[in-house]
Amino acid sequence: MRTQPLQLTRELLHFNTINPPGMERDCAHHLGKLLETAGFEVKYHEFAEARTSVFATVGGRHEKPPICFTGHIDIVPLGMAKWSKDPFTGETDGDRLFGRGSTDMKSGIAAFVVAAIKLAPFLKNSPGITLVLTASEEVGCEGAKYLAEEKLLDRAGAIVVAEPTANYPYIGHKGLMWVEIETKGKTAHGSMPEQGENAILKMNKVIAKLEHFDWKHECGIDCHHVMGKPTMNIATIHGGLNTNSVPDSAKLTVDIRTVPGIDHVHLCHSIQNLIGDIGSVRKIVDTPPLYSEPDEWIESVYVTATPFIDGKPSPKTIMFSTDGADLKRGYGGAVPTVIIGPGQPEMAHQTDEWCSVSRIDQSVEIFEKIMRDWNGI
Ligand SMILES: [Zn+2]
Repeated sequence: MRTQPLQLTRELLHFNTINPPGMERDCAHHLGKLLETAGFEVKYHEFAEARTSVFATVGGRHEKPPICFTGHIDIVPLGMAKWSKDPFTGETDGDRLFGRGSTDMKSGIAAFVVAAIKLAPFLKNSPGITLVLTASEEVGCEGAKYLAEEKLLDRAGAIVVAEPTANYPYIGHKGLMWVEIETKGKTAHGSMPEQGENAILKMNKVIAKLEHFDWKHECGIDCHHVMGKPTMNIATIHGGLNTNSVPDSAKLTVDIRTVPGIDHVHLCHSIQNLIGDIGSVRKIVDTPPLYSEPDEWIESVYVTATPFIDGKPSPKTIMFSTDGADLKRGYGGAVPTVIIGPGQPEMAHQTDEWCSVSRIDQSVEIFEKIMRDWNGI
């Protein structure tokens, strides 16, 4: 019997892959078995115990490399607010399918798995399809980073990331770099501050410098023709233990969103140089920017997606970051990459997260067409 995308999305919703702790193994094996039965060659890769990614390929013995479709198996926590629907059973109400991961992004995985299974019997002598189902995207893209760094990705000629876009094809996203900055001082009694060294006052100087960070001067670029400007948000600050002591430590975290052309290692050094010996900078999250200038293949994806969205797409990038950046790097860096999937971007990580059932069906159509075009079938 043919696998139905709604049914498969529901099956995936049943697995609790909330990250942390993730524990993607059971869900990964469920998908792996399904693909194996359909003729895919399936491998499992674990970056830690039970943190399983699936690498599945069919066809591919061809001069032209396969096309890669990717999605993450993990989901974010449910949040503090009470859900009005069960997050794990896949309840529907009209066109809406509810559940944690319905939008981000088990529906996207289900859609390309269904399309790939349908085409698997016809791919023997064609470039083929590779499916990369990753663990732990939601915590620093750990699964994708592992696959890229351990060189487990083989080859691909194009990448489709099925993150929630309501089926609009985006051509990239900003990079993400989070840093922690620590200042250290010397504690003393609060009545004699002159005997101590105040870590919070030092942090004040750090903040003043960051507030006037000059992107052009430090990184050589302050605007991208599609993505716009890089940003820096001072996000959290902690310092001091009690009111009658001089604080001897303060910590700041900063959320930085970069554009292509900004190298994260260089950026980290620039910040350290800027603040000098007032504080120390440590990188805590690092995902590079992702961008593909529209080429012939991307134009063909635009044409395929047009009937399902409001008019012909134009070059746009999306706000959130994805595994695509690490996978693209793992595939050598020059692989055109598009982000397109059935989920509602505004419902990602929300209470009562839902996905439109008809959009899932549309994604299957879009993905099948992209796969057929790539393979000439
Ligand atoms: Zn996601």
